[in-house]
Amino acid sequence: MSIKTFKRGLRLPTRKTATEGKPIETIPVPKQIVIPVNQHFGAPNQALVAVGDRVKRGQKIADAEKPGSLGAPVHASVAGIVRKIEMHLQSNNGDGVCVYIDADADRALTDTAFMPPLDAFACSKDEAIARVREAGIVGMGGAGFPTHVKLSPPPGKHIDAIIANGAECEPYLTIDEALMSEKPKQLIRGIAVVMHITGVQNAIIGMEDNKASLVPVLEQEIRSAGLEGKISIGLCRTRYPQGSEKLLISALTGREVPSGGLPMDAGCVVNNVGTLIAIAEAFDLGKPLVDRDLTVSGLACKTPKNIRAPIGVMLSDLPQCFMDVDYETLHKILFGGPMMGTSVPTLDIPVQKNTSGVILMTREETSAYAEGSCIRCSRCIRACSCGLSPVLMNIALNTGDLDEAVRAGLMDCVECGGCMYNCPARIKLVQRFKVGKQLLRSQRQTERAAQ
Ligand code: SF4
Ligand code: SF4
Repeated sequence: MSIKTFKRGLRLPTRKTATEGKPIETIPVPKQIVIPVNQHFGAPNQALVAVGDRVKRGQKIADAEKPGSLGAPVHASVAGIVRKIEMHLQSNNGDGVCVYIDADADRALTDTAFMPPLDAFACSKDEAIARVREAGIVGMGGAGFPTHVKLSPPPGKHIDAIIANGAECEPYLTIDEALMSEKPKQLIRGIAVVMHITGVQNAIIGMEDNKASLVPVLEQEIRSAGLEGKISIGLCRTRYPQGSEKLLISALTGREVPSGGLPMDAGCVVNNVGTLIAIAEAFDLGKPLVDRDLTVSGLACKTPKNIRAPIGVMLSDLPQCFMDVDYETLHKILFGGPMMGTSVPTLDIPVQKNTSGVILMTREETSAYAEGSCIRCSRCIRACSCGLSPVLMNIALNTGDLDEAVRAGLMDCVECGGCMYNCPARIKLVQRFKVGKQLLRSQRQTERAAQ
């Protein structure tokens, strides 16, 4: 099998050994769950329950304020009583409305309100897309983009390749590998469902070559499903950020997503492997997205593991045997991996649909250097896997020139952090780019409103 790759990229220390090959352990039901009503990219949701309501596991508790808007509903992950609905800190470091549920002691997981199973291959395309939406499925690799929208490209977009993203290029994270190892049948089933919905005959499972041991397992499942020749495996060189959609498409198909474009502009639909498994379960079990598999690791974690938790469990409520924190050495808490994750100030934050990992880092693991001045060395340009000019984007943003930042590539930045990793002056380039993009979006919204 030939090894594929994309241009540029970084060879990072993978730091996966602490959890690599470990099974996924299910945590016991916590006493309280805190579920953010907004866990997706798009328009806001509103709570559908009130304080004092009894809810079942799988019951819809939040949905779009405006019907038909871009979004995904949210479901109770345990059965219990709604104790309060109020703001709480979330993994994006912002406060958001959350539904607090006191879990039933004995039937938190058994008192369910799942949907009836649905045969994805017998129902209509509209019914299938509605099922994915009603299950509240969003991109579980981190982006949180509503999956049903990806599966219904607008007229004129020709899709001819489905890509299952199992690259997992972020250091420390091993949950996608664990899922591919433990749920290969559901993964292949999810891919088959997506192929059927989109009418595409060709799918590729993309993964880095540090997971090559999974190839025979997945090939066996492909054969059992009778899908040889339709689903293939694309082994890619272990190289950061291989898991970025645009770069995975480039590595697996040789196609380039045009500037400002989406994967569908290159004829591809890309879904994380966890998302595809959730799709299979939404049809075969009627199960909405209520559980999350994630990696808990870092040198300040004495119990690195891959775990399965109900969405909404507070990190601070995880039993010690699942996350034993060494508070003496704990220096940084990350939601997600060290390159693209978000640093948060406390463990008092709930696990969300897009929480692929929680990394507890010591000072030695982090690069806590003071920011210096740019020395125009161009190392950031050489490091950028998207061929952008981070130094020019940074200069433009520092002078408030958003148009110039866009000309230098701001909106094509995948926020991988490669430029910052290579910058000798330790300039916080990615943070600036994230803020710059937000500014640009609000500016465009204001312009549209004025028109
Ligand atoms: S400019 Fe954006 S895409 Fe390029 S290396 Fe930096 S963060 Fe990654
Ligand atoms: S790597 Fe850092 S110091 Fe060098 S040009 Fe880029 S921003 Fe400036």
